[in-house]
Amino acid sequence: MASGNDPAIPLFDLRLSAADLAAVEATLRSGWLTMGPRVDAFESAFAAALGARHAVCVSSCTAALHLAYLGAGVGPGDEVIVPSVTFAATANAALYCGATPVFADIRGPHDPGIDPVQVASLIGPRTRAVCAVHFAGYPAAVDVLRELCRQHGIALIEDVAHAPMATLGGRSLGTIGLAGAFSFFSNKILSCGEGGLLLTDDDDVAALARRLRSQGMTSGTWSRHTGATDTYDASGLGYNYRLDEPRAALLHSRLERLPEDIDRRRELVRRYRSLLCGLDGLIVPFRDEDVATSACYVMPVLVADQERQGPLRRHLRENRSVQTSLFYPAVHEFSAYEKRFGEQSLPESERWARSELTIPLYPHMTVDQQDRVVEAIAEGLHR
Ligand SMILES: *Cc1c(COP(=O)(O)O)cnc(C)c1O
Repeated sequence: MASGNDPAIPLFDLRLSAADLAAVEATLRSGWLTMGPRVDAFESAFAAALGARHAVCVSSCTAALHLAYLGAGVGPGDEVIVPSVTFAATANAALYCGATPVFADIRGPHDPGIDPVQVASLIGPRTRAVCAVHFAGYPAAVDVLRELCRQHGIALIEDVAHAPMATLGGRSLGTIGLAGAFSFFSNKILSCGEGGLLLTDDDDVAALARRLRSQGMTSGTWSRHTGATDTYDASGLGYNYRLDEPRAALLHSRLERLPEDIDRRRELVRRYRSLLCGLDGLIVPFRDEDVATSACYVMPVLVADQERQGPLRRHLRENRSVQTSLFYPAVHEFSAYEKRFGEQSLPESERWARSELTIPLYPHMTVDQQDRVVEAIAEGLHR
């Protein structure tokens, strides 16, 4: 049996190719470091790969969510319906607009997507948008939500931080609502350190995002540098949400290998599912047939008995050197949210937060590593 001295198995691991490094070096040598031809080229490549009209690079997914909400007309006094089982950014970005995030519960342990029935019951006169998170790379019910939002004249925003190149009914996630917000943070599927992107088919939303990412200015430094324009106006209050050139170059280089990386993730997830689904006391969310269209960002599992969550994570870490994480503590239970909005009850979200653990997954994970994780879970479930 393996011991605590085994080499650690990390939750995520990142490998860059020689081509990735060369792309960054060439950019650093080019003498132009931010918002230039590499940002433009990556935007075009990403929009083409996902089948959208516009891609707007920004400094983070949080920034993309903020601009997406502003593009949906979200402002002071409005409400944005969001899930609680997500990264805090989904809800925080609504607060940046002066709006109130209203939390809807998730569907349940087998599907952590926002529940459209709950969403329908929460839509009121102040609701301006709904944000769906495609958890772990699997589509939320955005087909149903799109129709619901259309009926009420409100916007559907997609938080696609987990799900670049995942699809629903043949359409890329992030192209179904008014706008999709992507993350290129270090541990995401397509990462460059810090970065994000707003994807949209809507010309006005794209134009707004392009202006607001750079202080509301009507032209960028590159177009002034190249002589395309020689002055600018500021047409509204903007931000510094720009992405720099080395990161865009890294993203563009990595985008080419992304489909391969996702295929490998899918193989690993299928193998995890075949080994884990039979374990007594463990719930494996989603269905086997969902894997083919998921980006397979992370591998979440749930303990049937909430009391086992802490001990199982400890066993994995301390006895088997397997790193795990919790995706996510429920946002509505964060002290900042409880202080501001009081205690709220979202039973399925709370159950998820108290029973989930995220286990290691990355494209170059080996079968031996995977076997060690599975063995360690089997032992730890009943200790
Ligand atoms: C990572 C993440 C974000 C925020 O991304 P940043 O690029 O770090 O701002 C938002 N939503 C979800 C679901 C995420 O996982």
